[in-house]
Amino acid sequence: MSRSVRVFLTFDVEDPVTARSDDAVVRVAGLLRERGARAAFFVTGDKARALVRRGRPDVFEALRAHDVGYHTNHHSTHPTVAEYLERRDWADGVAEVVARERSGAELVRELTGRRLCGFAGPGTSWGPQLPAALAALDIPAHLHSFSRTGGGHNPHWYAGALCFARSEAVGPVEDVLPDPARFAELLARVPELVDRAAGSADGVLHLYIGHPTMFVNREFWDGLNYAAGRNPAPGAPLAEPAARAAEETRTMLDNLGRLVDAVRARPGAEIVGFGDLVEERLRTPAPRGDWFAAELRAAAAEPGIRTTSRTASPAQLLHAMCGAVLGRDPGSGGPPGEVHGPVARPADGIPAGGRCEADRDTVLGLAAELCREVAATGALPASLRGPGGVALAPATLHRGLLDLAGTGGAEALRELPARVVLPAVAPLPEVGEEMAEHFTRRVGRWMHRPDLDVTEIARLTRAQSWTLRATAA
Ligand SMILES: [Zn+2]
Repeated sequence: MSRSVRVFLTFDVEDPVTARSDDAVVRVAGLLRERGARAAFFVTGDKARALVRRGRPDVFEALRAHDVGYHTNHHSTHPTVAEYLERRDWADGVAEVVARERSGAELVRELTGRRLCGFAGPGTSWGPQLPAALAALDIPAHLHSFSRTGGGHNPHWYAGALCFARSEAVGPVEDVLPDPARFAELLARVPELVDRAAGSADGVLHLYIGHPTMFVNREFWDGLNYAAGRNPAPGAPLAEPAARAAEETRTMLDNLGRLVDAVRARPGAEIVGFGDLVEERLRTPAPRGDWFAAELRAAAAEPGIRTTSRTASPAQLLHAMCGAVLGRDPGSGGPPGEVHGPVARPADGIPAGGRCEADRDTVLGLAAELCREVAATGALPASLRGPGGVALAPATLHRGLLDLAGTGGAEALRELPARVVLPAVAPLPEVGEEMAEHFTRRVGRWMHRPDLDVTEIARLTRAQSWTLRATAA
């Protein structure tokens, strides 16, 4: 193994029903503290309120040795995140997340006296407005995100937030901990998991341990109460999950300790606090040299829309290219600000954008239209008015300008030729489809209303793949 691997451990703390799950948090947190391993615990608003009701300041005390994050206000209670985003457009959805999640985030912050290290997505619920709303909630990162760069980069940026992909996490491993055969298999896999992370672009391994409640319960607290879109009757007591035998809880705790030891025994592997990792990734150094020229070269060389740059998302690069066409200096420190993917619905009949040729004035007009839209809304337009009033996808302009810059560099954008070819291309980064498909496949599980319609969430998920980029090395 050639390089070090930063391993971080996370738990979701969400069971407001059983008092023994409070003890489980104390025991898990204490075991890890004794081993000097800092983990991150993502707490729901409802769990925090239950801890206050049950008079358990010791749970917050036990979390002092660890990082504390947020895991939604009401988790599986309906409407869940995907249910409350179902009929929202982009801006309303972002506002909805902030309005619904603020009180829980503030409570967890107040009770722990700490900055929240991140927001862990609840179960299979999701909408791209979730990461986009985190800045307003003063939360610096998003965990269990359905986003990914397509190039194995983890963490990455998506919708303006530092995101950790659920597809890159190992776990939850809680089911494995009580089972001797499966646990032996997991231990045997640790070297391979660490080595694979060492060979990845970012050298990060997310070990998602799971839920403290599952160390003391045999079933999930929420599946019993909130399946198929129904909430329990108001005032009715919540159904209690069946308890785990004390002996089995001890086995799970022992095995968690052995797992931590096995990770540490692997040369190069280091267990780091999630909060420290986030802080490190937020300190983005300015790119060296002429970032714009370097980005143009790299993006022009890729046939599709490049989502793995460490400097600029494809939306930022398109914005900067249009700026260059209008004679603006791209600046020396990287692109100036975040640009969202198209949030409006594209005009009918133009998703791929047909190949056409445009004269210089038309291209100047397209660039000006795009820059105006970004200035007004912070997002790319869904379509542009091309030659003869034909609607063009922004991806068509993106590829046309990249083809120019691929041979002539930034100079070719500043001094446009008389005619520019705008080729027919796919309208979105390829990975956007993968993300939307993954979410659509997973969302149908028990935690949502069976008739939940995720068409709009999936559309916005794809569209925001324009915002993808890797974190700075
Ligand atoms: Zn959860």
